[in-house]
Amino acid sequence: MRFIPEENITALLLRLSENATVWAPQVVRDTVNTVLFAPWREGAEIETGLYSALPVKGLVLPATERLFSFRYHRAGEREKIEIEVDELRERAAVFAARACDAKALVTLDALFLDGSGRSYNDQHYRARRGALTVITLACTSCDSACFCSSFEDGAAATAGSDLIFYPVSGGFLAEAVSATGRELAALDLFQESNLEKPPLAETAKVELARLGQRLLDKFDDIDFWRRTAEGCLSCGYCSYACPACHCFNIFDEMESDRAGGRYRCWDACMFYAYTLESSGHNPRPEAAHRYRNRLAHKFSYFPLNRGEFLCTGCGRCIRGCPAGRDVRDVIKALGAG
Ligand code: SF4
Ligand code: SF4
Repeated sequence: MRFIPEENITALLLRLSENATVWAPQVVRDTVNTVLFAPWREGAEIETGLYSALPVKGLVLPATERLFSFRYHRAGEREKIEIEVDELRERAAVFAARACDAKALVTLDALFLDGSGRSYNDQHYRARRGALTVITLACTSCDSACFCSSFEDGAAATAGSDLIFYPVSGGFLAEAVSATGRELAALDLFQESNLEKPPLAETAKVELARLGQRLLDKFDDIDFWRRTAEGCLSCGYCSYACPACHCFNIFDEMESDRAGGRYRCWDACMFYAYTLESSGHNPRPEAAHRYRNRLAHKFSYFPLNRGEFLCTGCGRCIRGCPAGRDVRDVIKALGAG
């Protein structure tokens, strides 16, 4: 196992900065404790004690991204349109991602990279993902919202990471997961170590066995869903904050009367307009219908279709819900029912 002393971390980030934008969790200016992954500059304080409000998925699937620009022009009698696809030219490295976020990248990879017909081969996602290095900080503690131990590997998940740092006295043990991680761990900033990995966080657990079927059995009990979604504001934070949620919308924005861009933006099934049809009919008119869909997608439809949960137990949707909704309460209620 390799070891990096704490005092070498800045040097590591500076090395990474030579050919990539380094993203690290930082308290957002003018807030008390809102942490977001933001570009790191030498001297910036990295905050690893608090949970980031948003996951690292924005580095591969940005909240808003221009896919291409277009311009109309006249060629003789004919109107033509020129299209220029936006290409990513910059590498990125994320420092102190969490295992639950890194693991969710692998779920997104299967949806956006596979190209088999069951998923996209998305050139924008592919470019961003290929240009991203993920350095994960393993969790040795957790808060009451975390429930990653309910899932395979829990806090010990290595999927999606290139290099994993384990906090130990005086620095971090470093475990390389990918070739990129091995290259980094071979840098002269690291040294060999016989230290043992620290014990990792053990979170509270929920029972997920047979949950998919239990959700289907409860589908028509709308009173149950009204009770579980009570107070939901349909704000969509739970979807935006989720490392595994990946819904998006696409629309054109004109920049002049002859030119504009096509953009992809995050969307959320918790929004009323998400399923609103042009006739005015909405098959999910109440927050209860939308909350039911969100949970059933994550814990029933997605596992049935793809063999994995669309949740890593990061706890963000619990920590940040303004209405105090907690997916674990629903899971427990279904288990008891
Ligand atoms: S469950 Fe909470 S976070 Fe999600 S849309 Fe409703 S109020 Fe917002
Ligand atoms: S559903 Fe909630 S706990 Fe699960 S990964 Fe998404 S935000 Fe995290």
